Amino acid sequence: MATIGFIGLGRMGSAMSRKLVEAGHEVWVFDINPAAVQTIADLGVHAATSAADAASNRDFVVTMLPNGPDVEETLFGEAAVADAMSKNTLYIDMSTIAPDATDKIAKRLADMGIRMVDGPVGGTSEFAERGELLILAGGDPKDVEAAQPIFDVVGRETIYCGASGGGTRTKLVNNYMSTALNALTAEALAFAEVAGLDVQRTVKVLAGTTAGKGFLTGAYERKIFSQDISPEFGLALASKDLNLALTYAASLNVPLGVGAAASQVYAMSRADGLGPNDWSAVLETLRIKSGLPGQTFKA
Ligand code: NAD
Repeated sequence: MATIGFIGLGRMGSAMSRKLVEAGHEVWVFDINPAAVQTIADLGVHAATSAADAASNRDFVVTMLPNGPDVEETLFGEAAVADAMSKNTLYIDMSTIAPDATDKIAKRLADMGIRMVDGPVGGTSEFAERGELLILAGGDPKDVEAAQPIFDVVGRETIYCGASGGGTRTKLVNNYMSTALNALTAEALAFAEVAGLDVQRTVKVLAGTTAGKGFLTGAYERKIFSQDISPEFGLALASKDLNLALTYAASLNVPLGVGAAASQVYAMSRADGLGPNDWSAVLETLRIKSGLPGQTFKA
């Protein structure tokens, strides 16, 4: 069983450190808020006197803090956790922070001879309570493998996301999509309600179509991921439908900001001459506008 320093006992960290104790690990916990330590004090954790105390001479040090500046401050500020860790400690940051912060932290620790894995998580505190988080791990594969016993306790699955910073970057891409999709979903349901539709019936319809099922494993897989943008559903027709919806919503005074931004993407694709192709070809337009090379498609 391992010795673990766990820093940051909020909604996520308190549940994760409890799981680690239940799995038989020796866990030293610290939070700047003494009340947070108090809530899990009777669960068999060791209450550290400082962040450095939690981190010194441990096999693993885990941080689960709000944001990058909190992690940097904990490691390199007055708390001096980086100095407290030994060369044998594997440091795992599971907070959601900016990629450049992860890069800076990893480099600074590497210069001190300390290995780091970024392992931000998918799933809410409900998932943390059950030890069913999704771990998005970045770092040297050997270090991610070494962190696996920790990940196995707090998570149901670990996905290796590439070199250092890959976990943080994957987490941001994931959350970009889920948060934007949340706003789009809310727009569609407000639109349905104002249009006089039964919302629950509309939800049933949307859940069974591409609207609710998404593109990744359906339309994209069959078409653009297979280098095929021949039209299964034409991009120009999709653009027409989106604009019909926007016009109708405008007549009802329903604001559809996410949809309005999407209509500009279709306009760019049409201007690029992709109108006759499959609607999944918007991906090609955005790839090219983002500086990526164009792909070759099946004739
Ligand atoms: P939280 O605000 O509940 O907890 C953060 C804890 O960190 C608090 O107890 C706070 O006192 C402590 N803290 C702050 N600065 C500190 C410092 N310098 N030293 C020691 N402790 C310090 O946040 P949370 O919901 O547990 O989230 C933690 C991280 O996990 C965030 O990056 C968040 O984005 C991410 N995350 C949260 C969820 C979720 O559903 N809550 C899901 C996935 C990822």
